[in-house]
Amino acid sequence: MDGDCIFCAIAAGRAPAEVLFEDEETVAFLDINPAAPGHTLIIPRRHYRNLFDLDPEAGAAVMRTAVRVARALREALAPDGMNLVQANERAAFQSVFHFHVHLVPRWLGDGIASPWRQRPASAAALREVGDRIRQALAPGGKSEGQNP
Ligand code: AMP
Ligand code: ZN
Repeated sequence: MDGDCIFCAIAAGRAPAEVLFEDEETVAFLDINPAAPGHTLIIPRRHYRNLFDLDPEAGAAVMRTAVRVARALREALAPDGMNLVQANERAAFQSVFHFHVHLVPRWLGDGIASPWRQRPASAAALREVGDRIRQALAPGGKSEGQNP
């Protein structure tokens, strides 16, 4: 646990939050600056900075809760769709450094814009970047390693 972390404080019940659901490993609560009604954050109780140090089992627990809460949001609020969003480091607009996923209920015409603009890439460019990533994924690479 990180003593300065607001999400650790919420998980421990030391800071206020509109908690929707909790179990042994995770807590789901409403975002205080909602992009849409029902905007929910799901965290592991244990502190991980982000995806790069997340225990995969804690990630699986967060995803289990996300599936459950997404279905409840759909039943309660009847959105037309939903985004699951997750940010890692400042370059990717992470602002709270305790791993979390966002569930953002979406309505047609709600005006929320996609965060990226896509452009087609050549097969050669895809192959080149693919080769670099496959190398990092190969047995013995860092991606296989245990958590720090
Ligand atoms: P991110 O940009 O993915 O790091 O998002 C962090 C989110 O946490 C933002 O949407 C904030 O509005 C939200 N947030 C920050 N502090 C709190 C808090 N005390 N309770 C609920 N949500 C919070
Ligand atoms: Zn924390």
